[in-house]
Amino acid sequence: SMALQEEMSNSSDAVRELRQQLVEARAEAMRDELTDVGNRKAFNNAIEELMFDAKDTPNSLYLVMADIDNFKDFNDTYGHLVGDSVLRYFASMMKKTKGDNETICRFGGEEFAILIAESSMEQATERAEGIRKDIQAAHLKQRNSDKPLKTITSSFGIAQFHGDKDDAKSFLERADNALYLAKEKGRNQVVDEEQLLSEKAVDAKK
Ligand code: GH3
Ligand code: MG
Ligand code: MG
Repeated sequence: SMALQEEMSNSSDAVRELRQQLVEARAEAMRDELTDVGNRKAFNNAIEELMFDAKDTPNSLYLVMADIDNFKDFNDTYGHLVGDSVLRYFASMMKKTKGDNETICRFGGEEFAILIAESSMEQATERAEGIRKDIQAAHLKQRNSDKPLKTITSSFGIAQFHGDKDDAKSFLERADNALYLAKEKGRNQVVDEEQLLSEKAVDAKK
């Protein structure tokens, strides 16, 4: 009957709408609300996927960990809301210069992770240096004020995926250790995992 047909077509509209809502809800669950980049969950998915893609081509996948320097002081000086807008600015700046082979996520707090596929240590370093210089050169002002905010600097640790014998935990750890060394060496700089090894060798000699 016409009535039944109408009801069936209504219900397929409803299914279509629910399916659409599911797609949107999934996307929402992977997005960081403040900065509109991928969240930690998106990062966890992306790193596994990209490591799988790169398992047979070692030294093609890079992980750049970026962390804003002395951000606690910045928050203490200007307040958490101004801090939030700096995080938004930092993320939008990275998005503007983002390559097609990149996945940018908020790893947590004032720390961002950039996965760069089909790349090299030179390119990954250049990318990190670009971000480092961009944020340092930004002339940020508080809304409704002409007074400039303090200069923002950031530190970076870069790790290289070694292929089959490597895993996410160790990949992440190397990026983290490189970032830690960048902080230790005085912040506002980029350190890669190779420097980590030579630094350790120097320590051993001492
Ligand atoms: P370092 O140079 O060693 O990285 O020093 P730091 O102060 O940046 O690092 P620390 O880990 O001591 O502090 C991180 C700060 O980042 C503290 C926290 O208040 C701030 N933070 C984390 N998430 C947010 C956020 O969503 N909004 C704002 N405004 N601040 C945040
Ligand atoms: Mg920090
Ligand atoms: Mg941090």
